[in-house]
Order: sequence, then C-alpha cells, then structure tokens
Amino acid sequence: MTERFLTGRTALVTGSTSGIGLAIAATLGAAGARVIVHGLGSTEEISHAEQTVRDAGAASAHFLPGDLADHVAIEHLMQQAGPLDILVNNAGIQHTAPIAEMPPAQWDRILAINLSAVFHSMRWALPNRAARGFGRVINVASVHGLVASVQKAPYVAAKHGVIGLSKVAALEYAAHGDRSSGGITINCICPGFVETALIEPQIQSRAAHHGGDRDAGIRDLLGEKQPSLRMALPDDIAALALWLCRREAHNLNGAAIPVDGGWTAA
Ligand code: NAD
Repeated sequence: MTERFLTGRTALVTGSTSGIGLAIAATLGAAGARVIVHGLGSTEEISHAEQTVRDAGAASAHFLPGDLADHVAIEHLMQQAGPLDILVNNAGIQHTAPIAEMPPAQWDRILAINLSAVFHSMRWALPNRAARGFGRVINVASVHGLVASVQKAPYVAAKHGVIGLSKVAALEYAAHGDRSSGGITINCICPGFVETALIEPQIQSRAAHHGGDRDAGIRDLLGEKQPSLRMALPDDIAALALWLCRREAHNLNGAAIPVDGGWTAA
C-alpha cells in the first residue's frame, strides 16, 4: 500500500476525467489527499472518475466544473476549490495541421487551454501558499515544450510557454518555506508518447497506412521519435507527480523533466 503522506492535503487536478489526469488524481488519492476532480465529460465519465479516485483511497473526491478556455470559469473554479496544497495543471488538447492550414480558432483555443489556463490557475493558487511553507504546482507540459515537431504549432508554442511560465513562478516562490515544511515548487513533467485518448487520432492515422493495424501504427509513430519504442502509461507519469509532492523534493524547482524514452537525448 502507498504511504499516505498526503493526508490532510488538498489537490486539484485539471483534466482528471480521463487519461494522465485521472491517473494522477487516483495516485494522489491513494497517498491520502483530498482530490478535486475536474475536466470535461458526460455525467457517467465524471462519476466514474470520482469513484476511481475514491476507490484508490482518497480522503475525498469531488468534481468541480470549469471550461479552461474561459478565464472567468477558471476564476470560479479556483474560488470554489479554495486553498490548495497541490495544483496539477494537466488538462490539454491537440490539433495537428501545417501552419498554413491551422485554423486560427484552433490556435486560440489551444493557447487558451494549454497555456493561459496555467497562468490563471497559478495566479489564484500560489499567493496563499507563501504563508504555509508548502505548495506544489505540477504542470503537465510535454516533450513538445522542449523540442518541436511539424504540424503542432499551437501545441508546441503553448507547451514551450508553460515551461517558461513555470520557471518564472519557481523563481518567485523559491524562498518560501524550508526543508522541513517542504517548500513551494513549480515543475513541469514533459512526457513523450503516453497511451491515452489524446494521441489516438495520430495512432489511427498511422494505422491507416498499414491496413488498420494499430500496433504497426504505434511502431511507426514511436519509431520516428521515441527511442525506447514504448509508450509510457498514465500511471508512470502519475508516479513522478506523486514523488514531486514529497517533502524531499523541496529543492527540485523550475525543472522540466522529460519522460520520453530518450526522445530529447538525441
Ligand atoms: P486526455 O484527452 O485523456 O485528457 C485531457 C483532459 O483535459 C480531459 O480530462 C479533458 O476533459 C480535459 N480538458 C480538455 N479540454 C478542456 C477544457 N476546455 N476545460 C476543462 N478540461 C478540459 O489527454 P491526456 O493524454 O491524458 O493529456 C493530459 C495532458 O498530458 C495534456 O496537457 C497533454 O498535452 C499532455 N501530454 C500528453 C501526452 C500523450 O502522449 N498522451 C504526451 C505529452 C503531454
């Protein structure tokens, strides 16, 4: 059983109705946190996410809505959430097309959800951390915050922006707290390919070149970029997020940690 070192802590995980966010919410819950589940989804998907987090052992798991494309909705979400010990900015969307064919509305939407929402939530969450001496912001960026790929202009721009923004926040709060309280840290996790719904369209488009063979599509996709030739699982990312919440992680700050099977080592 996971050590319950997050007992008494409250965590908001954006985009935790599915994928990486749900895995992080469940993992923080298993360590004893009160978890605020958030994201889009049907009533069934939302209840399923809440139940998954409760079953994992969370002290509580309640859903709060909030469209991250709308900064007024984010303010409302943050007010309803109240003081947070842990903020995980995980929600994100993708749309692939060459720059010349990228719909401007997609640019605006991806920048709003993948970048501006991170600013709006941190602006609310960070000030009340200073007096408490402990706080964690974990921004799920991407390997595309470190390097580029074609056809992902808004996504790459937004994820590079998240890493820069996180460094500023890390510097501004670095001196609060101490070794025993755990300090305040703001870090990015930069996954390569992780097995979730987000990358399914890319897998399917590759699979189409192999008569619909999904495994062949995955081999194609990973062969170009991810030297390990294996996708991470959402739980792998969640394990790192959990570790960043530990007191011992007090001096790991302003970092962008790749979990990319060697992609950015090349
Ligand atoms: P996912 O599609 O399974 O989950 C995305 C979550 O974001 C969902 O809960 C969704 O409801 C929420 N969301 C989307 N738009 C929203 C909005 N407007 N308002 C509120 N919530 C919204 O995808 P995932 O793969 O789990 O992605 C999670 C994060 O990980 C994203 O930031 C993504 O960019 C990043 N990431 C994923 C991969 C990968 O390979 N899957 C790789 C690198 C980075």
